[in-house]
Amino acid sequence: MATLRFNAIKKTFDRKPVEINEVERRSELFGRNVFSKRAMRQYLTSDSYKSVINAIDKGDKIERQLADHISTGMKEWATSKGATHYTHWFQPLTGSTAEKHDAFFETVDDNSAIEKFSGQQLVQQEPDASSLPNGGIRNTFEARGYTAWDPTSPAFIWGTTLCIPTIFIAYTAEALDYKTPLLKSITALDKAATDVVRYFDKKVNKVTATLGWEQEYFLIDSALAASRPDLMISGRTLLGHSPAKGQQLHDHYFGSIPSRALNYMRDLEHECLLLGIPVKTRHNEVAPNQFELAPIFEEVNLAVDHNSLLMHVMEKVAERHNFVVLFHEKPFKGINGSGKHNNWSLATDTGSNLLSPGKTPTKNLSFLTFFVNTIKAVYENEEILRATIASASNDHRLGAGEAPPAIISVFIGSQLTKVLDELEKVTDGKLSPQEKTDLKLNVVGKIPEILLDNTDRNRTSPFAFTGNKFELRAVGSTANCADPMTVLNSIVAKQLIEFKQEVDGLISSKKMKKDDAIFNVLRDYIKKSSKIRFEGDGYGKAWEEEAESRGLSNYRNTPEALKSKISKKAIDLFTQLEIMNETEIKARFDIEIEDYSKHIQIEGRLIGDIARNHVIPTVIKYQNVLIKNVKGLKEIYGKDFKDQAKEQMNIIEAISKHIAHINKNIDQMIDARKKANHIEDPVKRAHLYCDEVKPFFEDIRYHCDKLELLVDDELWPLTKYRELLFTK
Ligand code: ADP
Ligand code: MG
Repeated sequence: MATLRFNAIKKTFDRKPVEINEVERRSELFGRNVFSKRAMRQYLTSDSYKSVINAIDKGDKIERQLADHISTGMKEWATSKGATHYTHWFQPLTGSTAEKHDAFFETVDDNSAIEKFSGQQLVQQEPDASSLPNGGIRNTFEARGYTAWDPTSPAFIWGTTLCIPTIFIAYTAEALDYKTPLLKSITALDKAATDVVRYFDKKVNKVTATLGWEQEYFLIDSALAASRPDLMISGRTLLGHSPAKGQQLHDHYFGSIPSRALNYMRDLEHECLLLGIPVKTRHNEVAPNQFELAPIFEEVNLAVDHNSLLMHVMEKVAERHNFVVLFHEKPFKGINGSGKHNNWSLATDTGSNLLSPGKTPTKNLSFLTFFVNTIKAVYENEEILRATIASASNDHRLGAGEAPPAIISVFIGSQLTKVLDELEKVTDGKLSPQEKTDLKLNVVGKIPEILLDNTDRNRTSPFAFTGNKFELRAVGSTANCADPMTVLNSIVAKQLIEFKQEVDGLISSKKMKKDDAIFNVLRDYIKKSSKIRFEGDGYGKAWEEEAESRGLSNYRNTPEALKSKISKKAIDLFTQLEIMNETEIKARFDIEIEDYSKHIQIEGRLIGDIARNHVIPTVIKYQNVLIKNVKGLKEIYGKDFKDQAKEQMNIIEAISKHIAHINKNIDQMIDARKKANHIEDPVKRAHLYCDEVKPFFEDIRYHCDKLELLVDDELWPLTKYRELLFTK
């Protein structure tokens, strides 16, 4: 019997939901372990408090002496809550988070010790992080990089460690993390958007991008997951026959949450609230054992930090509940995968959402300005946006008929389409008073009413307007949101700068009134960007053809898609806005392209090992059982034994044939891997992995899955799909 598998199943059946006591109100828990403004007021002098607030709001530098006060206050707060250590917490380009803990502890002359945390330790650290990816920026013999405090994301306590969000940069100043370019894109967008919003509202001094992510994931019992080397190592199943029942009955989606999973979520939410992650929504997703969690949106830098922190906390809390969390975009073949919708908008310091229409014509013209500029930005840079969602794991999902296609398009709904159609007709040049009144009353003025009944949501669109925000739906569930958000912020910033220049140009050169100039530029933008707008079924073949005729890109895999990251257009975008320099852009590209090859390489080794070490020995065991049976029949029936043994002999032969196919494919795959590994050029290597190594996975899997159906269930060593997906 396949002991590991059956022990795991038994363990899972015996599990009870872990008891959770929710005694405190959520509002009281919220932010308790965060060095929030409230905690700062309590623990900092008013001077140091002010300097932190100015650093957050205006990006002001914090004076040396004040930094010492702040660190002391922070330490007092943290130790009062039981913290013994501190760490600079950052997001290197590995996709996870990094930390190195130091104790609040220093020895002094007289052989005693004190608790200490200096301003210098708060502001800057030098982790020996020479093994983190850097894309060739740092040579290891000079592997110096440092972390620097980001006061815009508050410190928090996790376990007994005070975590200080930081950026991570090389001594030569290049960014080695996700946060640095994100912060720069936030600054660029603030400047560009504030300049534009002041056409409409002079009171605005700051614009921030907001992000509300929706995290999808699977929960699998830890014992079951441990019996699957593919799940444990690559995060997805490389083999496994589809279960008789999958998601076809749609009986899991929004259904009642299974009790073990529910208690996990309650426990998780408790931890999240303590950490100031404003979690709000939880529900079942489409696939069995698939769920979603969404918070209230926040300023984008904080939201990105919170998503990274959340993923870490999810894994930790899962251990307490004997679950493994699967973040992979496609853990199971034939079953929906997971994504991470990024809801994005722009908020002013006066409390207004720039992508939300309002009550006055001015507010609505402001809305239209930001709305149309965003669409134009996406049109002009669709391939750069596509590149940010590319990864080996997201390749399985994009365009697979369950997630947006690899073609970027914008959905705005039929009502707003009508508004844009009207605006396209605006007169070229100065507008007559009659036309302006008409526009303001009947087109711009009607927007809020229109949006109220704008219910036509298109789930197949990768970038959809949903009433007061855009939703980038193509982001993968494993992704760090920073990269797509950096790109979105940057392309919109660039677009708004151009818009301002054009409007100002018309005002000064053609002596146009401001509103006339704005209508004129918007009209042009609507016309120019119309090709990116698509309201139909994004999953269909027809759209692929249509998109091609519109000249939209359709990069089907990561090595192809990533190239747009180092195009001249991308380099100009990031260098002109001072978000990244060319070295940083290329380093990131190198890391991602290498990462792709490594992923496929690991999966290739895994599937080869599992097929040879698990599947083939098992099926030979079963074949021997059959052979014994046939021999026995021959003993009893003599020369007529074939009448009785025909089916068994067919299976014996089928097993041998499948084994032969598997072995042949593995040999060929290994040869293809060897060939790829000998290629110096990382881009060519990634293409070889994609085009020549990866296709073998399907062939090997096909034969293994056929064998799964042939062989005695008792012998099969790998936990089956039905057990992984339907054990709750
Ligand atoms: P859905 O139907 O896609 O689940 P919801 O209305 O529930 O949409 O919102 C999904 C996410 O959008 C939530 O995380 C929410 O906080 C976020 N969201 C709402 N308004 C904004 C905004 N102005 N900016 C960014 N995100 C927002
Ligand atoms: Mg959504």
